Amino acid sequence: MEDLLIYNAKIYSLEKEGENFSAMTIKNGRITELYPDNPPLDCIRKMSRNSIDAENQTILPGLIDSHMHFVMTVAMSVLSTPISVYQDGEFSPKNLAEVKEIIKTNSQVSSKSTPLIFNNYVIPTIEENRLPTRMELDQWAPNRLITIIAIDGHSFSLSSEGLRKLGINPENHDGILNEDMEEFNMDKLVNLFTSTLNIKLLVEGIQKTINSAIDKGLVGLHCLEGFQDDPSADLSLKVMKLVGRKIPLKLRLYPQVKHVSKLNPYFKKMRSRRIGGCGAWDMDGAVGAKTAAFEKPYLGGSDNYGSLLLTKDEIFPLMYAAQSSGTQITTHAIGTTAINELLEAHTLLKTEFGIDTKNLRHRIDHFEFPTKEAIDRAITDLDLLIVPQPGFNWVDANYPGMNTYNKFLDPEIVQRQNPMKTIIGKGGIICGSSDSPVQSLDPWLQIHGMVNFPIESERISIYEALRTYTYNGAYATFEENDRGTIKSGKYADFIMLSQDPFDTNPENLLYIKVNKTFINGIELKKTNLAPIPYLVKLLFSKTNLI
Ligand SMILES: [Zn+2]
Repeated sequence: MEDLLIYNAKIYSLEKEGENFSAMTIKNGRITELYPDNPPLDCIRKMSRNSIDAENQTILPGLIDSHMHFVMTVAMSVLSTPISVYQDGEFSPKNLAEVKEIIKTNSQVSSKSTPLIFNNYVIPTIEENRLPTRMELDQWAPNRLITIIAIDGHSFSLSSEGLRKLGINPENHDGILNEDMEEFNMDKLVNLFTSTLNIKLLVEGIQKTINSAIDKGLVGLHCLEGFQDDPSADLSLKVMKLVGRKIPLKLRLYPQVKHVSKLNPYFKKMRSRRIGGCGAWDMDGAVGAKTAAFEKPYLGGSDNYGSLLLTKDEIFPLMYAAQSSGTQITTHAIGTTAINELLEAHTLLKTEFGIDTKNLRHRIDHFEFPTKEAIDRAITDLDLLIVPQPGFNWVDANYPGMNTYNKFLDPEIVQRQNPMKTIIGKGGIICGSSDSPVQSLDPWLQIHGMVNFPIESERISIYEALRTYTYNGAYATFEENDRGTIKSGKYADFIMLSQDPFDTNPENLLYIKVNKTFINGIELKKTNLAPIPYLVKLLFSKTNLI
């Protein structure tokens, strides 16, 4: 007898376009049978211990986010306040005077020892078009640890107290840190955050993050964690090793550590060997901070081309070591120059290892502004997986006052952004992702961005967009035979929705609501426990490979 029968449903398998079923059975966490029509009622009674009448709801495979930063998302959910808010068609604050008021108010209502952390600062919507300086922050709230992080996560500003905590002498420093500066300190900033997390806040943040994932239909997260070259000194990796393995979602770790040789204690806890992401594997910065690397300068009469954080000669030995030990590599590259530099290194790797490079399914994350030649090379020659976040492009083009790309980039470069249709046309595999906490974890924002993409010729269909968040996410971690679609034999990871995305006006995809999220055939419910009971619950749950 089966454990569960679901009938009266509109089940899209996503195995192939248009394939759908009315009922399915589940046993021991896996799908056993799929039925084109509802089985007769007496049959339903006999078939399984439990049955659910789906009342014509839509069922899709559970969603997988292929690039997010779990511990940062957890930390931000409890420690920081989003500063730029979009309401009634405009952003506030609009200028530094308004930023000052927010910081003053927040400093007055919190204790002196609490760090003031603000995220989601949208630079182009501020009249002065910049982050506040150390001197301004010190004046607005004296002797406080203050940091303001730009929406793309690639630049931030700090008060004197914050600079000191990071080991930077505040004298002669304006407190604004960009990635192209030698003193790039995002790794230290992350550790500073995570060190202000106590167990109570950490557990609260985990519960919050898991709840929001369930709420949006996410069953899997690829967690890109760590900044330090010494994994044992890295708090986010420690958290993943201890708590990440107890979390009810299917988390998959990508350690952002330079040297593969240091990862053996982690590989024992992982399903497959992976390395890289952002952090130590950043080829460049981001457009909002004008640090993504291009062959043409940023607009505004400057001679700023952004800059490479790693050259091909610097990244190649790291890649070589990873490839030699059979480890999948993922690397952050946004600007055209950074992408080309990385492709050079991949080409060299392929020359050395031949067909083997393909078998490891290496990825490029962001891959935002490739030329036509770069697409050919990445997809046709090198078989790289592409992990973009097109929700951001949609927000950037549609929120008045943002428009970062048109303000900062040469019009010809703007046209290159996230060529999804071209990539798919060449047989490339795109994995959907949010880059949370840079953007919200919401997969529907990304799917919406793919289908309503600002460059119309690069829009993809709802089927293709859903595949990026299901099958392709499972493919990236070599699990496509086990999950990612609805098929008999696969894990019963699926979501139930009252609205059918295939039957929804594309402009409303953003508002799709998920009613239920199932993992291994069991409904995952949001919890609202106090930190200690939640921690106990986590510690007593099954340990998983990540
Ligand atoms: Zn990232």
